[in-house]
Amino acid sequence: MYRYADVIIDISLDKLDRPFSYRIPDKLMGCLEVGMRVLVPFGQGNTVRKGYCIALSEDTAYDPSRVKEIIDIAKDAVSATERQFLLAAFIRKNYGGTMSQALKVVLPAKTKVKKLVFREVERLMERNELISLKGEALRKHQTAKVKLLDALLEEETIPYEWITGKLGVSGTTISSLEKAGAIKINTVTQYRNPVKLGEVSEDRKHLSSEQQFIVDEVEKDFESGKPGKYLIHGITGSGKTEVYMSLIENVVKRGKQAIFLIPEIALTYQTLLRFYKRFGNRVSVMNSTLSPGEKYDQCMRAASGEIDIVIGPRSALFVPFKNLGMIVMDEEHESSYKSELTPKYHALGVAKYLAESSGAALVLGSATPSLESYRMTKDGSMRLFKLTERLTGGSLPNVTVVDMRSELDAGNKSVFSRKLRSLLQDRITKGEQSMLFINRRGYSGFISCRSCGEVIKCPHCDVSLSEHKGGRLVCHYCGYEIRKPSLCPNCGSKYIAGFKAGTEQIEELLQKEFPGVKTLRMDADTTSTKESYEKILSAFANEEAQILVGTQMIVKGHDFPKVTLVGVIAADMSLQSASFRSAERTFQLLTQAVGRAGRGEKPGEAIIQTYKPEHYAIGFAKYQDYEGFYDEEIAYRRMLGYPPEAHMLAVMVMGPSEEETGKVAGRIADNARSFSTEARAEKGQEIVVLGPASAVIGRIKDLYRFALYIKAERYDILVEVKDFLEKYLKDNPPGREFIQFDFDPVNMI
Ligand code: ADP
Ligand code: ZN
Ligand code: ZN
Repeated sequence: MYRYADVIIDISLDKLDRPFSYRIPDKLMGCLEVGMRVLVPFGQGNTVRKGYCIALSEDTAYDPSRVKEIIDIAKDAVSATERQFLLAAFIRKNYGGTMSQALKVVLPAKTKVKKLVFREVERLMERNELISLKGEALRKHQTAKVKLLDALLEEETIPYEWITGKLGVSGTTISSLEKAGAIKINTVTQYRNPVKLGEVSEDRKHLSSEQQFIVDEVEKDFESGKPGKYLIHGITGSGKTEVYMSLIENVVKRGKQAIFLIPEIALTYQTLLRFYKRFGNRVSVMNSTLSPGEKYDQCMRAASGEIDIVIGPRSALFVPFKNLGMIVMDEEHESSYKSELTPKYHALGVAKYLAESSGAALVLGSATPSLESYRMTKDGSMRLFKLTERLTGGSLPNVTVVDMRSELDAGNKSVFSRKLRSLLQDRITKGEQSMLFINRRGYSGFISCRSCGEVIKCPHCDVSLSEHKGGRLVCHYCGYEIRKPSLCPNCGSKYIAGFKAGTEQIEELLQKEFPGVKTLRMDADTTSTKESYEKILSAFANEEAQILVGTQMIVKGHDFPKVTLVGVIAADMSLQSASFRSAERTFQLLTQAVGRAGRGEKPGEAIIQTYKPEHYAIGFAKYQDYEGFYDEEIAYRRMLGYPPEAHMLAVMVMGPSEEETGKVAGRIADNARSFSTEARAEKGQEIVVLGPASAVIGRIKDLYRFALYIKAERYDILVEVKDFLEKYLKDNPPGREFIQFDFDPVNMI
C-alpha cells in the first residue's frame, strides 16, 4: 500500500529533483495516483498550495512524524500549465517510465536564450536585372546559380543556411553573385521571417471540390461544437497541404491555435514558405537545430499568444498553447513519430489524448495510412476523407514486378535483372535520371532461397529468423532457435544464403556494368548530418549524377522531375525483416518509391525486383491499391494477435553482463507470467508472454540486450502489466540492469 507521495509545488524542471514528501490521508489511500493535482499545507505557516504528485511510495526517507499530510485532491479547472502536467501524466501512464522522465519530455528546459548569429542573403538588384543574370547563367549551364536566382526572384531575403542547405548552392556561387552586386550578405541576430509582412500574399488556390468538401465538413463539426478526428488519404500532390492550410486558417479565425506536425526530414523549404506566406509571423518553426534556449523561447511565445501556429516534429506537441484548436499530423504513418527514448511515446496516441482533452480537432494525412489510423476510420472513431486527383500533373508510372527466381533459372546471377539493366542503359543513353532503392530498415540478416524464394521463419511468430554467429538462426520475439540449414528445406537448392547487397556494392556494380556513369549514394554512412543529406539530394536535383542509389531515405522529400526510372533492387529485404510490421513497411516503401518516377512531363517506369512476386504487399503496391492491402494485412494481424488488432508490450532489459541481463529478463518474464490468474482469465484479460530472447541488436555500447514481448487484446491490460512489473522491479531492484518499456513497438529493438 502506498502511504507517501512525492509532490512538487511548481510545474518546472528544476523542481523535479527535490520533491516534497507528504503522507497520504486514509480517505485518499488507493485513489491518489501519480499525475494528480493535490492541495497541500506548505511552508512554516502551512498555507494551502496546489501541488503535483509525481511518485508514490510505501516509505519516506524523512522523519515520518514531521511529514505533513495531503489535504485533498484538487478539483478546480485545469490551467494551461497544468495541462502540460496532465499530458506528462498521460505519457507516463501509457508508455512507462517515471513522472520525471515524462515531465522532461513535456516541459521545455528553462535556459537562457543565447543569441545566435545568422547570415542572410538580401537581393539588391531589380527583378529584370536578375532575370538577365539568370539568362546568362542558363546559357552557361550554371544550374546552381540559376536556382539561387530563381529563389531570389521570389524572396527578397533568404537565410544563408537555407541556400547552402536546402537549395544545395555553394558559398562560392553566393560570393560570385555578391561580387556582381546582385546581393549582399547581412548578419542578423535572429532569423527573420523570410517573407516580409507586407508581402503576406493571397496566394490562395481555388480549392477543388474534393478539397472544399473536407474543409466544409470539418467546419460543420466546429460549428456544432464537436471538432472531430479525421484522416485524409491522398497521394503526394493530391492537395493535402493546401487543405491543412485552409483548415488551420479557419481555426485561427476562431481565435484558436494549431500544431502542424511533420516528420522532421520531410519539411521542405517550399512547404515552409507556403505557411509563411499564408500566416506571416504568426507561424513558428521548431526543429532539431534549435538550441534548448530557443525552444524555450518559442514555448514562451506560444504561451503568451504571440504565435498561432507551430510547425515541427513530434516534440511540437508540447508547445503550451492556451486555446488549442487543431493538431495536424502530416505523413502520419512515419515511424519517426514514435520516440525511441524512454518514455517511448507515439505522437499519434499523445495527439489523440491532447485533442480530446483540449477540445481540439485532429487531422491526419498520408498517402499510405498506418494500419492503426485506418482501422480507426473503420470503427468510427475517425472520419475518412479521400483526395483522388493528382494536382501537380505527371502520371503514375508503369510498374513491372520482376521475379528474380526466373533470373537465376536463366543463368543471371547479378543483382540487376535483365529488364532493369536494359532500362538503366536506355536512361543513360537518353540522359534521363534513375533511382535505385534498397531498403535495409529493420534488416536483420534473414536467410532465403534464391531458387524458390523460401524464407526461414519462426514457426510460432511468423517472422523471419535472423542469422547469428556460429550458424544459428534465432527468432527475436520468442527466442526459438535452429541450426542454419545448408540446403533449402523447401526445394533442396544450395542457393540458400543471407541476403547481402548494400548501397556501396550496388554503386560498384553500376560502375562495372556501365563504366563512367555518374552515381550518387545516400545511406546512413553518407548522411551523418542533415546537411549532407540535403547536399546529396540537391546534387542529384542539379543533375550532377544520372543514378542515385540509396536506402529508404531517398523516397522522401524532394521532387525530381527528371527521374523516369525507379528500381527497387530487393523488395524482399523489407518484406523479411524480423518484425510483424514488415509487410506494411514494404507496401509503404514500394508505394512511395514507385511514386518517385514520372513526376515530370515524361511518363515514368518502375521495376520491383523480388523473390516473392506473389506476396500481397508487392501485388497491391504494383496497383497502388491501399484498400486491398489493408484488408489482407488486417486479417493477418487479427489471426496472429498483432497490433492494431491486439496490443503488444516489449520489455527491454539492458546490462553489462550477458549472463546477469539474461537472468533478470528471465525473472521479469516469470513475473509477467504470474500476472495471468484465473480471475483475470475469467474476465478475458489473458496475456501471452513471449521470450525472453536476445534482442535484434544483441549488444549496443557494451550493454547486452534481451527483450520479452507481452501480448494482450486490450491496451489497458498491458498498462496494468507494466504497473505490475514496475512494482515488482521496485520491490526487487536489479543490480546493474535497467529496463525499458515499449508499447506497440514500431521498430524492432
Ligand atoms: P500534398 O500535400 O498532398 O502533396 P499539396 O497541397 O502540396 O499536396 O499540393 C500539390 C500541388 O498542387 C502544390 O503545388 C499546390 O500548390 C497545388 N495545389 C493544391 N491544391 C490546389 C488547387 N486547389 N488548385 C490548384 N493547385 C493546387
Ligand atoms: Zn528453395
Ligand atoms: Zn518466434
